[in-house]
Amino acid sequence: MAGDPLTTALDEIRKREQEATRGPWKVTREHGYDIDGDRWDLPSVTGPGGEDIFVADVDQPAADLRFAAHAREDVPRLLAAVEAVLTLHSCVAWYAAADGCEHPEPEDEDSGEHDDWNDDHPMGTTGIQICLKEKAGSYCPECTRLAYGDAEPECEDFVSAPCPTHKAVLAALTGKEVPGA
Ligand SMILES: [Zn+2]
Ligand SMILES: [Zn+2]
Repeated sequence: MAGDPLTTALDEIRKREQEATRGPWKVTREHGYDIDGDRWDLPSVTGPGGEDIFVADVDQPAADLRFAAHAREDVPRLLAAVEAVLTLHSCVAWYAAADGCEHPEPEDEDSGEHDDWNDDHPMGTTGIQICLKEKAGSYCPECTRLAYGDAEPECEDFVSAPCPTHKAVLAALTGKEVPGA
């Protein structure tokens, strides 16, 4: 679903991640002595070829540098983890059965009209012809599987989507309240 807040939030993070210099990054500390014999330290985060990603201030806490350097691997991992959860807890549309919809099947089976009707009324996964013009709702495949095990519930009993897991991820990523929580 393009344009929904969850996709937008993830796309923004992924874009920043992909535009940044490739990793791994690490914390490097150079030091030496100036002309007066005073020691200097120059902490920086460097890229895979040892090039500076950025040079930090001498007083920058080491934890900040570690955090920045590890973000190069941590962010893609976290994105992958969120995507794995969302792949399980997705929103799958389900549709009304074609036999009860408002589009009677044209009588002439060889007509273009009938071809169009067929396109709008394909065979659903449960072996019942469905009407793509009448979306009945959305369900979460994983929550439905967890609730019913191997048994196949009636469409009406599907756990509706977005499910609580999906909503919790959305709330955490966008900083908004979980709707209906
Ligand atoms: Zn779910
Ligand atoms: Zn229909």
